[in-house]
Amino acid sequence: MKVGIIGGGALGLGAAWELVQQGHQPVVYERAPFLGGQASTFDVGGAPLERAYHHLFTSDTAILELAEEVGLGHKMRWIDSKMGIFRNGKIYKFVTPTDLLKFSAIPLIDRIRMGFVALYLSRYKNWRKLENVTASDWIRKYAGPRAYDAVWGPLLRGKFGEYYDKVAMPWFWGKMHTRFTSRGKGMAKEKLGYPGGSFGEIFDRTAELIREKGGEVHIDAGVNKVLIEDGVARGLEVELPGQGAKEENFDVVLATVPSYIFPKLVPPLPADYLAKLEGIKYLAAVLIVLELDQPLSSVYWLNIADNSIPFVGVIEHTNFIEPEVYGGNHIVYIANYLSSEHPLFHMKDTELLEEYLPHLQRINPNFDRSWIRKWHYHRVAAAQPVVEVNYSQRIPDFQTPFDNLYLANTTQIYPEDRGTNYSVRLGREMANRIISDHKGD
Ligand SMILES: Cc1cc2nc3c(=O)[nH]c(=O)nc-3n(C[C@H](O)[C@H](O)[C@H](O)COP(=O)(O)OP(=O)(O)OC[C@H]3O[C@@H](n4cnc5c(N)ncnc54)[C@H](O)[C@@H]3O)c2cc1C
Repeated sequence: MKVGIIGGGALGLGAAWELVQQGHQPVVYERAPFLGGQASTFDVGGAPLERAYHHLFTSDTAILELAEEVGLGHKMRWIDSKMGIFRNGKIYKFVTPTDLLKFSAIPLIDRIRMGFVALYLSRYKNWRKLENVTASDWIRKYAGPRAYDAVWGPLLRGKFGEYYDKVAMPWFWGKMHTRFTSRGKGMAKEKLGYPGGSFGEIFDRTAELIREKGGEVHIDAGVNKVLIEDGVARGLEVELPGQGAKEENFDVVLATVPSYIFPKLVPPLPADYLAKLEGIKYLAAVLIVLELDQPLSSVYWLNIADNSIPFVGVIEHTNFIEPEVYGGNHIVYIANYLSSEHPLFHMKDTELLEEYLPHLQRINPNFDRSWIRKWHYHRVAAAQPVVEVNYSQRIPDFQTPFDNLYLANTTQIYPEDRGTNYSVRLGREMANRIISDHKGD
């Protein structure tokens, strides 16, 4: 079976990898000049670095298996996590239960209550019962308003920006589960994983092996439209480098593009399917990446629990992977998740940098802009679907209204938070579904 795949991110490549291994012929088209989509890399100090900070949890088995299968399993590194919370002008270490007990930004009784709530959620199984309540309401009720304001509220803001109080409880439940399963016995240490050689290396190697096994992977290859005849997908119109627009026939097509792109590639969709695609909002990730000549802090991941600071996370990648890998540069991502209505979303890169820089001095009073060797601006569209209440009823079907045309993207990952692991897993599941749906063809 010849399967056309739109998108060369984790999902598209995961699907192609599964298909080619089962004797089918996948052809992947990626519009960008590189693979990996949201987890793609660029060069810093001679080494590939993700455009947006990335790490893995020990529970991310699908991408770990992929790394193993493409011969890169041995490059995985597992490192003790260094997380912190910035509140009241101070960095609080926030990794172990002891750190929670020492978190003096809230009274002891609230810290103990938070610990019990976290433990309860890690053991709770029936997340479907939580579908109709928002995480904000649930946390305020059970962990109390002070724990909400100081820790979990900022975490929700950090991920969902202005939609923080709309997010459904299963998303928060999923997050707590992932974090707890990533800890060893006793809950003391959390290990985070990083593929030495970068996420990009996994995707590039996967593509190489797909090609060796008879599939195709094209970059700089945007799909203009899905060719549909009598309600059945029969191929793609693709823009290949140096060749202009070209029609290619396929038995099946899998689109892995964001929901708002899909309607632009197909004839008008029935109203109910279109409403589902349009019903889930996305936030963009807006990132400034600094290359510094010295460290900003000793924390890898700093959640900003202070509304007077215009960003929600400071991720110092070189407190995770050593700066020597990146030519001695200390790499700091300043992160926000924003809707297209937010003023920061529309700021020019230089304006945004100026807006952010004075606040870095609050994190480290010695910080000086002369520390910056280079800086970069990245905007990742469709970075985070907003998981609202009763989400399971909002998810669009994988089977689109057209025969032989499937759609799979991050909006359909639930209750887990989207991530490379779940895109690889979904890609492989889609490949198996396509094979099984078309067995007799
Ligand atoms: C700031 C940030 C931090 C993150 N941190 C982590 C992390 O720590 N760990 C983790 O595992 N995950 C993390 N993620 C999430 C992870 O990167 C994504 O969930 C995953 O990469 C999504 O893969 P995908 O293939 O589903 O989608 P995408 O990566 O979006 O791939 C879709 C692809 O389709 C292509 N495309 C679109 N239209 C067309 C067209 N017409 N023709 C051809 N191609 C087209 C796009 O260019 C894109 O490459 C993070 C994401 C962001 C934004």
